[in-house]
Amino acid sequence: MEYLDKAVYITECDDYNIDNIRVKLNQAFTALGLNSQYFKDKNVLIKANLVMAKKPEYAATTHPAFVRAIADIVYQYEAASLTVADSPGGPFNHVTLSSVYNTCGLNDIAGDRIKLNADFTYSPVRTNGFRLKSFNVINAFLKADIVIDLCKLKTHALTGMTCSIKNLFGIIPGVEKVEMHSNFTTKEDFSEMLVDLAEYAVSTKPIIAICDAVLSHEGNGPTHGIPKKTGLILMSKSLFSLDVVAEHIMKMDGEVLFLNYAAERGLTKRNYEDIDIIGMDSVPTFDFVRSDASKSMIIKYPKLLGGRIAKLLETRPKINRKKCIGCGKCASSCPKHTIVIKKNKQKRIAKINPKNCIKCYCCQELCPIGAVDVKQSLIVKILR
Ligand code: SF4
Ligand code: SF4
Repeated sequence: MEYLDKAVYITECDDYNIDNIRVKLNQAFTALGLNSQYFKDKNVLIKANLVMAKKPEYAATTHPAFVRAIADIVYQYEAASLTVADSPGGPFNHVTLSSVYNTCGLNDIAGDRIKLNADFTYSPVRTNGFRLKSFNVINAFLKADIVIDLCKLKTHALTGMTCSIKNLFGIIPGVEKVEMHSNFTTKEDFSEMLVDLAEYAVSTKPIIAICDAVLSHEGNGPTHGIPKKTGLILMSKSLFSLDVVAEHIMKMDGEVLFLNYAAERGLTKRNYEDIDIIGMDSVPTFDFVRSDASKSMIIKYPKLLGGRIAKLLETRPKINRKKCIGCGKCASSCPKHTIVIKKNKQKRIAKINPKNCIKCYCCQELCPIGAVDVKQSLIVKILR
């Protein structure tokens, strides 16, 4: 049935009990017509969200219980293999990934049935994207027959929301993602690039989106916000439809720019009401605290404000000098090389040169201890 290709299945799920998740996911796979015919003898890749080494309870990374449940299901459908892969921030190599797999709890479930990707090679690809023409993609993605885009529901400093489309940014190897931020410095360009990437990805193989919104993430996402109980699982054969529904669940309807671009290209309906929902009679919604960076009024009223006034309202990253430990991870993830590590009273501390900053918030995302705050402009503070 063709409508199943764009439908979104939603179900409630209260916790990370593996048996519950397996039952719920089994129902979702069945409802979407995903079975042995689909998976038999196929090499399946879970494109996880392993943005940084964080424990599952922070709700910023893929929960191991989902990986276990998906493994049970795809092997029941006679898949040939299952591998988990992502290219987090920082270098795409054994050292980075060992730490990530370990902290994210994936080492505990790895074995013959669940392989953790150890292939750190990548290959160039070409596309006819609006912004993206040629780029590198990790070979783990290229080699898979079927990809399960296993994302979290989270707020995001730059794009407002991260779900299945943004999760695919991790098929670009390591520090090349920094280059992408450097090449696509505005929110508009970066969002258009994300749609190029997703459109490329879905043109190469079947990609099934599964969103773990059992515990979502609000505030300073995608890594330094706080867990938010939403008790849901979403699943779809269309990343684009799933993200539109996810945007509605977060009460962000119309705010996520990359979904505007996806709709303009005919990849999705823009309004969640035009998308077929199965599994639940109505779509639950929640008040998500936005990230500090996206609270700037320029995002809310972009057309009413001229460029100069908008500049005065912009937020910018600010190092929390008390917390900073001078590790330098922000400096190495900054696409504009505008962060230096200085010695200050026997303490190493990061310093941002605001002149070159493009407000991508990679520094905030990748700081291991949450020492990058967001500074609101004085005008925004007064107007609030
Ligand atoms: S701000 Fe964070 S990432 Fe940057 S040096 Fe300080 S602790 Fe490290
Ligand atoms: S300082 Fe932070 S927000 Fe500014 S360009 Fe560098 S990484 Fe991006």
